[in-house]
Amino acid sequence: MKVVVLGSSGSLGSPGNPASGYLIQLDNAPSIVMDLGPGALANLQAVQNPSDAHVVFSHLHPDHCLDFPSLMVWRRYHPEFLAKGRNYCAGPSDTPVRMGRLSADIPEGIDDFSDTFAFLPWEAHKPHHIDRVTITPFTAIHPIESYSLRLEENATGKVIAYSGDTAYTTELIDCARNADLFLCEATWGDTSEGKVPDMHISGAEAGKIATLAGVKHLVLTHIPPWADPQVTLQAAREHYAGPIDLAMPGGIFEV
Ligand SMILES: [Zn+2]
Ligand SMILES: [Zn+2]
Repeated sequence: MKVVVLGSSGSLGSPGNPASGYLIQLDNAPSIVMDLGPGALANLQAVQNPSDAHVVFSHLHPDHCLDFPSLMVWRRYHPEFLAKGRNYCAGPSDTPVRMGRLSADIPEGIDDFSDTFAFLPWEAHKPHHIDRVTITPFTAIHPIESYSLRLEENATGKVIAYSGDTAYTTELIDCARNADLFLCEATWGDTSEGKVPDMHISGAEAGKIATLAGVKHLVLTHIPPWADPQVTLQAAREHYAGPIDLAMPGGIFEV
């Protein structure tokens, strides 16, 4: 598997870096787009036809999903690269309503996306099998229905874990257990002390979770424009001895 970072800026885009979006490319199967924040669709176009992908959402805060209505425009109306059939869209239970409202023509309308996506609702710990991978959602701690996602390639057993947005929770340790790549948010800089509760984690907590889960490679992401990534990275290093990278747009990780 190959992970391509489409956008990694936390809570909102920053110059040259869209908000959260990650592309997972597989051999001989449609790709999987994991979150699609504002700006991520432009970078997705630079890598592949956006129609040739399933979409999975960790949660539906704007920085993780706002390019979805534009993706539907591409899938329905692109003169050449429109979707040839339906792909899966997996997400929180209210995804069809929330995404449908975003692209409705009238305020109370809902744009039914079932012409182009088959919807799969997450239920904690219940895996969905999508082509060559199995994706299991774990309960995240965040103000709206949110999940951390564990994606396993069936043929190889390789695992990519993605925190989504979450406060510190043992669910995230279970999600990331022995992962080959752990894409973990680290919004709160070096420490969560004094920050809003039940919202995000720090670089230090990302490092602790990576160690407790025994992951092989930690990639820090969702660092907001006002934070210093090097401070976040250093805080993670103090708690995790394995390889650590910062997710940057265009970054590619082979798993
Ligand atoms: Zn976010
Ligand atoms: Zn969020």
